Amino acid sequence: MKEGIFLGMALCGILGPCALRAASPGPTAALPQALIPAPQDRAYPGELQVTVDATDLERKIVHVHETLSGVGGNTILLYPKWLPGTHAPEGPIERLAGLTITAQGVAVPWTRDPVDVYAFHLAPPAGAKSLEIDFQYLSPTSGEVGSAEISHDLLILEWNAVVLYPAGYFSRQIPTTATLKLPAGWKFGSALEPLTSDGNTTRFKPVALNTLIDSPVYAGNFSARFDLDPGGVAPVHMDLFADKPESLAMKPEQLQAYQNLVKQAYALFGSHHYAHYDFLYSVSDQVERNGLEHHQSSEDGSAPDTFAEWDKNAAGRDLLGHEFTHSWNGKFRRPADLWTPNYDVPMRDSLLWVYEGQTQYWGQVLTARSGLWTLPQALDDLALIAASYQYEAGRQWRSVEDTTNDEIMNPRRPISWRSWQRFEDYYAEGALIWLDIDTRIREQTQGARSLDDFARAFFGIDNGSIVTVTYTFDSLVKALNTVAPYDWAAFLRQRVDAVGLPAPLDGIKRGGYTLTYTDVPNTLLKARDSERKRTSLQFSLGVDMDEKNGEIAAVLWNSPAFKAKLTEGTQILAVNGVAYSGEVLISAIRTAKDSTAPIELMVKSGDRFRVVQVDYHEGLRYPHLERDTSTPARLDEILAAKK
Ligand SMILES: [Zn+2]
Repeated sequence: MKEGIFLGMALCGILGPCALRAASPGPTAALPQALIPAPQDRAYPGELQVTVDATDLERKIVHVHETLSGVGGNTILLYPKWLPGTHAPEGPIERLAGLTITAQGVAVPWTRDPVDVYAFHLAPPAGAKSLEIDFQYLSPTSGEVGSAEISHDLLILEWNAVVLYPAGYFSRQIPTTATLKLPAGWKFGSALEPLTSDGNTTRFKPVALNTLIDSPVYAGNFSARFDLDPGGVAPVHMDLFADKPESLAMKPEQLQAYQNLVKQAYALFGSHHYAHYDFLYSVSDQVERNGLEHHQSSEDGSAPDTFAEWDKNAAGRDLLGHEFTHSWNGKFRRPADLWTPNYDVPMRDSLLWVYEGQTQYWGQVLTARSGLWTLPQALDDLALIAASYQYEAGRQWRSVEDTTNDEIMNPRRPISWRSWQRFEDYYAEGALIWLDIDTRIREQTQGARSLDDFARAFFGIDNGSIVTVTYTFDSLVKALNTVAPYDWAAFLRQRVDAVGLPAPLDGIKRGGYTLTYTDVPNTLLKARDSERKRTSLQFSLGVDMDEKNGEIAAVLWNSPAFKAKLTEGTQILAVNGVAYSGEVLISAIRTAKDSTAPIELMVKSGDRFRVVQVDYHEGLRYPHLERDTSTPARLDEILAAKK
């Protein structure tokens, strides 16, 4: 303040009369203020009853009726904006339509808050004690609008999409009763417990609003239910939904591997934090393939041939292990700045390299420990991640911690130069950092301790409790120090804050492996390519080809393709004069290795055709982990089933 006054006075003297300096030409305005009360930890004096009709499969219009009691005077209703799991203001407010509200049979007009468009102001008539609220949730009718949630045979219902709730209260303090009407003959899965059932309509036991929103429903025509922990401490089930009955056929050894996943999670954490747990799993190409964590359930999705073509679908099979881990890391224990009292208070994502990064790590480890992956598959997955960071130019300017803002900045919209911009690297680079820490603890303690001990100490507290316990950077460092003393604070700050450091591959080295490149495809990459119809050549030419239309799906920054000025969206028409196919391009890269002639590409971008020469002669390069016998095989120990 003092410096400002001094500077101002000095400038007045130099620049002339102070009146000229005081204001600039153009409008001025008071800053807008949202008139929404902050949530308080007090009991809501009424109840929210939500009735949802999800039977309109053709038009995908979901009808919602709410009765909100406990109303006294002016009221503000909120539509959930900041969504747990996506960690971002992604509540689909634009899909709420047809809002009408009455009290005592009289229409109650509403106005939307001009600052927070998720808030609705109403003035019910004097003496009105409850509101009747009607609206529709317009689920996407095409991919242009959004990911499909409703097909003729399957429904994904997230309660945050179909709820307006009163402002001013912690969501856990708002008692809620939900009723759901489904198409005739459909079955459903959810962490919610049914209270009564009348034909196709189910009334669920009352829960607090935060539990309702954390308990989505999957429902469908074709379903199967598998017990993943027979006789266990708490029921764990997989509720499987499909487009066709044949997609539900799980082989006994596959079921065994999913059952092992539960056993291995208990062996790791030594606790559970749910009364019962449901994997809500869609094997469908008609609805979106979710991966979304909840406390007592998760939303999981994969291809219809998931069980029939087990090896082809190996890439991404760590999904269930990842989402299950979140019940411990993310839902039970959550970063203090990420936890919010309701869904309209902004989240801060600074510790996602723990919430998502360590979950990514345990998801991969548990997938290997349970036998859902073989050891070579787990190593191939790790090789791919390690290589992607070795080649990621964006590490020169942007820290891992800064990428924790990505969900808020750019909620999974496509970007042009991913390897330069970086994208949610707190997941996979986070996992590499936790591998580094795990192997460091193992090395330092001669194998006596590991990150497993941290997991048990940090996530295994309060066995059976569902009440979230928050954590901070300092509590994380303290817990690590209890397992193995080290300057973890400095180590972590450097790993997540620094820019321009080499890719964090120390964990692989200390794990007894070296990242190498050969002309033999990585098996997981091959499986992923065949599933996504891609030809990945990012570690050689620097492109990822979309085989559906022959377009470049991605160009790596500073790669040979980048230097040839190719971009994502450009179509390759011919390679050395031969019509494009993935095989033709691969063959040209092979030939160029023993030649000095460049690879000649005819490409089309917009309405322009051009011929580009790519001067690349290092052949095909696919990442692998090669055993280094000078170091103990700590990675093998980490990925082996726990007894
Ligand atoms: Zn996650």
